[in-house]
Amino acid sequence: MRIARTFADARDAMGVPTALVPTMGYVHEGHLSLVEAARAGGGTVVVSLFVNPLQFDSGDDLAAYPRDIERDAALLESAGADVLFAPSLDEMYPDAPATRVTVDALTRGMEGVYRPGHFEGVATVVTKLLGGLQPHRAHFGRKDAQQLAVVQRLVSDLSLPVEIVPGPTVRESDGLALSSRNVRLGGHRTRAAALAAGLFAAADAVEEGERDAAVLETLVTDSCAKADLRVDYVELADAGDVIRLLWLKSRAAFLAAAVWAGDVRLIDNVWLVPDNGGFRAERGRLLKQPSLLYER
Ligand code: AMP
Repeated sequence: MRIARTFADARDAMGVPTALVPTMGYVHEGHLSLVEAARAGGGTVVVSLFVNPLQFDSGDDLAAYPRDIERDAALLESAGADVLFAPSLDEMYPDAPATRVTVDALTRGMEGVYRPGHFEGVATVVTKLLGGLQPHRAHFGRKDAQQLAVVQRLVSDLSLPVEIVPGPTVRESDGLALSSRNVRLGGHRTRAAALAAGLFAAADAVEEGERDAAVLETLVTDSCAKADLRVDYVELADAGDVIRLLWLKSRAAFLAAAVWAGDVRLIDNVWLVPDNGGFRAERGRLLKQPSLLYER
């Protein structure tokens, strides 16, 4: 008999590794890069597809969220996913959930201010997916930087036996971070790239030695203002506890922003990682070709 002294040891007996990639569907290359990373880690790859009403603070946004499960299934199958878990609303929430998961401190700023209840919805559905599917690893994109920190913290706080694996942000060729919502940009698509351009300018400044959050934030707001993108926030935050920073010090941080292009809300960020006495900016990966989002 094996005597397990830790949660991890006890779970080790649970058989083949399984990696989960949680998504809300309308698959793009950002999702597929997480599937690729999940495959590289070995074991069974499960992609979940569920447009989670709990995390939408606006009914209009929920109604407008693009959906096409046949398209998604074909793309995920060719990317090598083993299982597509696409539960009905009834399967996920047979009753209105009396139990909600709240991750407190990390959700007070940024998205937490502009989307009340959003992170409670995210934390609740992620906890359900991790509990119900019991994956060994779960892959999340850095594109949603605050969400990634929230998930890492909830997994640590609740001693959930899963490894959270972050993946880099995948971007269209002009820098715009891929998002399923990009298909709704229409005539605003070109100027939407000003968000990434501002973040890249700030990333360059950090690599050249700038440490003042106000200077970095202004580079982003100026770029957005020139393109007539309405800014909700631009903030520098600690990557672990999401506390707002006035100054880049010795810990990993991200510079994150949310803006509106027409009626589409976009979020994006660059990661700033201590490296060799200075900072290295992680901008993510640029596609060379048009995204499959626009194929149909
Ligand atoms: P979503 O379907 O938007 O809820 O996203 C599902 C997962 O894909 C989340 O972990 C996101 O952070 C991740 N993701 C979304 N967009 C990107 C992107 N452009 N690059 C990398 N990961 C992404």
